[in-house]
Amino acid sequence: MIELSIYIHVPFCRHRCAYCSFISYAGREADIPAYAHALAQELRLRPVENAEIKTIYFGGGTPSLLPVDALSQIFKAIKEHHKIADKAEITLEANPGTLSREYLKTIRSLGVNRLSLGVQSLDDAELQLLGRIHSSTQARESIRQAKEDGFTNLSLDFIYGIPERSLETWRKMLGEIVTLGAQHLSLYGLTLEEGTPMHERVKKGEIPSPDPDAAACEYEMAEQTLEAAGYKQYEISNWAKPGFESRHNLAYWKRTPYLGLGVAAHSFINSERTANTSDLDAYLSCLSEGRLPIQTTETISAIAALSEAIILGLRLNDGVSVDDIEAHFGIDLHSRFAAEIAECSSLGLLDEQDDRLRLTPRGRLLGNEVFTRFLA
Ligand code: SF4
Repeated sequence: MIELSIYIHVPFCRHRCAYCSFISYAGREADIPAYAHALAQELRLRPVENAEIKTIYFGGGTPSLLPVDALSQIFKAIKEHHKIADKAEITLEANPGTLSREYLKTIRSLGVNRLSLGVQSLDDAELQLLGRIHSSTQARESIRQAKEDGFTNLSLDFIYGIPERSLETWRKMLGEIVTLGAQHLSLYGLTLEEGTPMHERVKKGEIPSPDPDAAACEYEMAEQTLEAAGYKQYEISNWAKPGFESRHNLAYWKRTPYLGLGVAAHSFINSERTANTSDLDAYLSCLSEGRLPIQTTETISAIAALSEAIILGLRLNDGVSVDDIEAHFGIDLHSRFAAEIAECSSLGLLDEQDDRLRLTPRGRLLGNEVFTRFLA
């Protein structure tokens, strides 16, 4: 029996945030019914033999824009084609500006048992700078409602490294974040992507560019504050109360199979990675004609798989087990990557204890410096 994860990409947003480079479309909500129908078709066309679904993740975009009937249709299709494990983790990403009490209650009754709220900041001026559609009051209210409605596995996303933020603002915000009572926190550094409105504003000199040194200070402050508040960091960007690590994301980092459905979704099954088209119209038209929307297919070679296992494993605070790599790939990491390990260790980026190689705190800040050395 394969333990399978399902990712469903929902590429609709009310409005494009100023920093956004994800695959999402604003002003296309009228296409949601056709999209839900296309997802059901894709599920029908992509059976996975002998699988049990351990996690389902609705990501976006803004999955909380899916009306209840569209969400029910997608769940129905999943259940028609797959066996869902009894205690499957079922996450829906939500934007605080789109939630109502009734919606929260209904999605819970449909089976969503983990809510991931894109809060990003608790400062209204910052939310405006980011071009988010919600206010900090709406975010606090959504968190309160979700908890009252019985969501006992709540994850909140925040952004660090926002231009013009002072360390004092972040210190106070972290103080409030830990009082919000979420079981899981994800913290992402702001990156300035070309072609985004924020990039344009920086180019015109209207706002400063995100400062990597300020971002590093905020990250270190977050590590200390969250640990003191009982959150355990288990991945470069993720912290959880014990037992609330994201099982879905762990499946990616541990390279277990996943089926990605929807625009731009990726799948990884039987050493083969596929990517769907990232064009919404092409996706809808493929499925209306009964064709799969797969744009690229790549068979992962043994050497690429080794590289992925090391890089993804190093993202986790548990790191990579040298023995496991040897058992799985027949390769002794110390011989194969002797120079790379020695160099990263001498730079204070890698550490080895027992049989595990791990990023040091400094290594977590400079992860890419380490990862590039292990690329296939
Ligand atoms: S809500 Fe997320 S996906 Fe949508 S525009 Fe904002 S950052 Fe992009």
